[in-house]
Amino acid sequence: MKYEGTIYRPPSEADSLILQVTIGCSHNKCTFCGSYKDKKFRVRTFEEIAEDVQEAKQYARYIRKVFLADGDALIIPQKRLLPIVQLVRDAFPRLERIGVYGNTKSILKKSVEELKELKDLGVGIVYLGVESGDQVVLDRVCKGTLLDKTAEAAQKVKDAGMLLSVTVLLGLGGVERSRMHAEETGKFLSRIKPDYAGALSVIVVPGTVLADEIKKGTFVVPDPYMLLEELYIMIENTNVDHTYFASNHASNYLPVKAWLPEEKEKTLKAIKHVLAERDPSMLRPEFMRAL
Ligand code: SF4
Repeated sequence: MKYEGTIYRPPSEADSLILQVTIGCSHNKCTFCGSYKDKKFRVRTFEEIAEDVQEAKQYARYIRKVFLADGDALIIPQKRLLPIVQLVRDAFPRLERIGVYGNTKSILKKSVEELKELKDLGVGIVYLGVESGDQVVLDRVCKGTLLDKTAEAAQKVKDAGMLLSVTVLLGLGGVERSRMHAEETGKFLSRIKPDYAGALSVIVVPGTVLADEIKKGTFVVPDPYMLLEELYIMIENTNVDHTYFASNHASNYLPVKAWLPEEKEKTLKAIKHVLAERDPSMLRPEFMRAL
C-alpha cells in the first residue's frame, strides 16, 4: 500500500483496511486542524487505487471493513467514485461495510439517489465533523458551513439509509463561548439525531491558526473541569431517540459511553460526581491525551 503522509481514521475503523482514495482534505481551512496541512488535496487516480486494492487482496482478502481515506472521500464526483467502490466490493468477498468521511459540502453535492447507489454497493456509514452547534464558533474556526446546511446533509445521509456518525469538539468555543457552544451543540445533536456522536476535546496543534490565537491571547482553552462541564451541558441538552454518545477518544479527560436517552441520567450523574470531587486522578493524565 502506498500511503502518502499521516493517515487518519475514525476510532471505530481500527480494524478496517484503510484505502487512501483522496490525499488531504478538500476544505483544509479549519483553524484548529493540522491533520492535512502538509498535503495538497487531490483525488488519487483509479490506477493508483487499483494497485493498492490488488496488493491488499494478497494479504487481507477476507477483510470485512474498508475505510476510504483521507478527508472527505464523498467529494469525489459520483462517476469516479462508483467504480472505486465497485472495485473494493469486488475485491473483498466478505466485505460488510465501507466507511467514508463526508463534509456538509460534499454530501450536499450528492443527491439522495446517488447516496443510495453508494449504499447499495456497501458504503454503510458516513463520518461527519459537526464540531459545534454554535454558528458563531463555526464561523470563528473557519469551518465553512452553515448549521442549516449541515442539518440538510445529515438528513440526506439518513434518507439514503446510511449510518450517520458525527464528531463534536469540546472546548472549541474557548472559555468565552464555552457554555453557549455546549448548549447549542447538544441542541444541534437533538436536531439531526445521529446514530453515533463522538465528543473529542480540543488539543492545540502547533502550526495551526488556533495555536497562534492562543499565543496572542485571543483564544483561551477551557481547563479540564470546564471541558467536563461542557460535556455535561452538551449531554443535558441532547434529546434524541436512539444515539450512541461517546467521549472515549484519547483527547478527552473523561471517557463516557452511553446510549441516549436511555442512559442519560446515569451518565450525567457520573459526570457530576467527577466535577464535584475535583480529584485529578479521576481524569486521563495530560501525557496520555492525544489526537
Ligand atoms: S477539521 Fe475536517 S474539514 Fe476541517 S480542515 Fe480538518 S479535515 Fe478538513
